Amino acid sequence: MTVPDITIAIDGYSSTGKSSFAKLLARRFSFQYLDSGAYYRGVTLYAQQNGLISEDNTVSDALEAALADGTLQIVTDGDAIRSMKVSSQVSPIAALPYVRSFVDRRLHSDAASGRVVMDGRDIGTTVFPNAELKLFMVASDEVRARRRYNELLAKGQTPVFEEVLANLRERDYIDSHREASPLTQAPDAFVLDNSSMTLEEELIWVEGLIRGKFGILE
Ligand code: C5P
Repeated sequence: MTVPDITIAIDGYSSTGKSSFAKLLARRFSFQYLDSGAYYRGVTLYAQQNGLISEDNTVSDALEAALADGTLQIVTDGDAIRSMKVSSQVSPIAALPYVRSFVDRRLHSDAASGRVVMDGRDIGTTVFPNAELKLFMVASDEVRARRRYNELLAKGQTPVFEEVLANLRERDYIDSHREASPLTQAPDAFVLDNSSMTLEEELIWVEGLIRGKFGILE
């Protein structure tokens, strides 16, 4: 199936499988994949490593200064940005408007080609409001926590299920209630509830959607 040069925006709650699904679509359709959450995690790791955020989430003004000229190098891959330590402080950091504009600028400059699939919380609403295809992913809390717990276990970490569940709920709450581009479903987004779907079933679903929406007959 040949997909036209579109931008695919995938938003949704924490651990709804956005990244796995976005990566699969990118491979399948030869699109560039960008994980916007990794940028927020990278900024959080930077703040932690440089002593710019305290235990009670007070953020030093030095973070704004460090992000101001837009050239700061942050880590956007690897295990360090996926730790519970980063997960526990990323949402307050992502709520800061200057952090959001730093990440938005990076995302726009890294999305070099027109064939991009990007996942996050505000891609279809703020980062790429004109994206031709918008998906909003949801799944039950327990399913999401179990997935995240297994991911952390597989990475050799020692997660506690209740902590993982509490962290997801807390991040969802902060992400949906912040003032700066809160997590919300774009009115033109299609909802994908994958609580009891395999990745393969999700792929079949989205291929049908793309065929219908873009009039692809093959
Ligand atoms: O996608 P992931 O769970 O790795 O994202 C980590 C955090 O980054 C989210 O909990 C959210 O606080 C923030 N985020 C955001 N906007 C995005 C992507 C992620 O605020 N577009």
